[in-house]
Amino acid sequence: MKKILNFIDGSLMEPLGGQYFETEDPSIGKPYALVPDSDEHDLELAVKAAKKAFPHWHNMHAAERAGAMHKLADLIEENAADFARAECIDNGRPLSQCSAANIARGIANLHFFADAGQKFVGEQFKAGNIESYTIPQPIGVVATISPWNLPMLLFTWKFAPALAAGNCVIAKPSEITPMTAYMLSELVNDAGFPHGVFSVIHGKGAKIGAAITKHPDIPAISFTGGTVTGTEIYSTAAKQLKKVSLELGGKNPTVVFEDADIEAASAGAVAAAFSNQGEICLCGSRLLVHESIYEHFKVALLIKAAKIKIGDPLEADTQHGPMVSKAHMEKVLGYIDLAVKEGGQIIAGGKRHVVEGRCKDGYFIEPTVIEGLPQTCRTNQEEIFGPVATIQPFKTEEEAIALANSTEYGLAANIWTQDDARAKRVAAKIESGIVWVNCWNVRDLSTPFGGVKKSGVGREGGRRAMEFFTEEKTVSRLV
Ligand code: NDP
Repeated sequence: MKKILNFIDGSLMEPLGGQYFETEDPSIGKPYALVPDSDEHDLELAVKAAKKAFPHWHNMHAAERAGAMHKLADLIEENAADFARAECIDNGRPLSQCSAANIARGIANLHFFADAGQKFVGEQFKAGNIESYTIPQPIGVVATISPWNLPMLLFTWKFAPALAAGNCVIAKPSEITPMTAYMLSELVNDAGFPHGVFSVIHGKGAKIGAAITKHPDIPAISFTGGTVTGTEIYSTAAKQLKKVSLELGGKNPTVVFEDADIEAASAGAVAAAFSNQGEICLCGSRLLVHESIYEHFKVALLIKAAKIKIGDPLEADTQHGPMVSKAHMEKVLGYIDLAVKEGGQIIAGGKRHVVEGRCKDGYFIEPTVIEGLPQTCRTNQEEIFGPVATIQPFKTEEEAIALANSTEYGLAANIWTQDDARAKRVAAKIESGIVWVNCWNVRDLSTPFGGVKKSGVGREGGRRAMEFFTEEKTVSRLV
């Protein structure tokens, strides 16, 4: 079995306690690699190395830091096919999508923030005879904690701006999908990073993740994951007044008005509901459709959902792979049972799917659509994070907005209408950090990204990420 190692102070190393646990390939339901079960002693080594490396890294010219980041991106690109295959085996996302999305975005994140770091400067002010300017300064040693659903994309999205801003980073990937983070760590020295600037520590959230959160020499934590974990991190971090960025769960609406292009909207709704098996925080899992087009839209949606090719994620034409783990598959199937108990009718999918051959024991679930549920039920309130969407009719724009806003989450929404004035009106009233009009998940990395309500605290993306990883000093004088 392949053994994953920590990367600390420029060295790939075994966990000091010598303990490992297994990680599974969800397509076949079997363990395939060993992951370090790191503890606070491993963390201590990484913190010590990062503190030592910080003055040099911080004082390097931004262009030199950018050089190492661009080089790391190039090295990943040279090995992109291996990265995509590893991500597919670890996570279950179909290979073609791992290649086009997870790995390509990982590379893009590194290039983007390498450039952003060089353009990130302070502001100037003048008020009467007071002249001021600001200096954004790195914080020091910071940590990033990332989830399993888009491993490489989110891992790089979190640590790249921190490095670009001049911090040293300790990164913890998810215990469920550690492989591409490990492969990336194997390239860090060749990219030219000084030892200690970037460490990767593997292990369990409740153990090494909690140790990172509590560590007194890590004053800032950027976290992406579930709302329950985020709340725990927030409360631990508050006791030491740490800076925290939280990108959390979602229960996002797809709102389809009567004037929408039904072909485009149903294709968009299928992509929003089922991409990455519904394991994207931005997935649109609640379809709200104007009553006058409800039946027409539903037929278009079901035809497209039925065409999604479920299968071995390593095969080129597969569009829908397994859930990331057995536990997660059981959780999602539990929600489908709950939906039926709550009075929902399953109009597509609804079951575990068996893929014949190599993947016969894999954790596949059919793309599922459920109708007839009230907005207040648990199925329509809680994040399921699988290929499960509900569909509900609405009568008026006001009702659509009220339904869209009636969960405790507020991450993303997508709305479909050909009326620009309506799009602006509705976008302004929807309670979420992101609204897409006649599209879903189009991303410009410079735009702010984040959620409201229980979907998060703070914004990432472009300048906002650089701001999170710096403290701004104001210098004033009389002129
Ligand atoms: P979790 O919250 O379970 O885990 C996220 C990360 O936190 C993992 O690395 C995990 O480690 C770690 N962790 C777990 N417990 C602790 C702890 N007590 N202290 C510190 N770290 C801890 O989320 P999932 O991995 O299950 O990811 C799915 C969730 O992420 C969904 O809710 C999804 O909506 C959300 N998400 C949000 C995004 C956004 O941008 N808003 C983007 C992508 C996902 P380990 O894996 O070892 O347990």
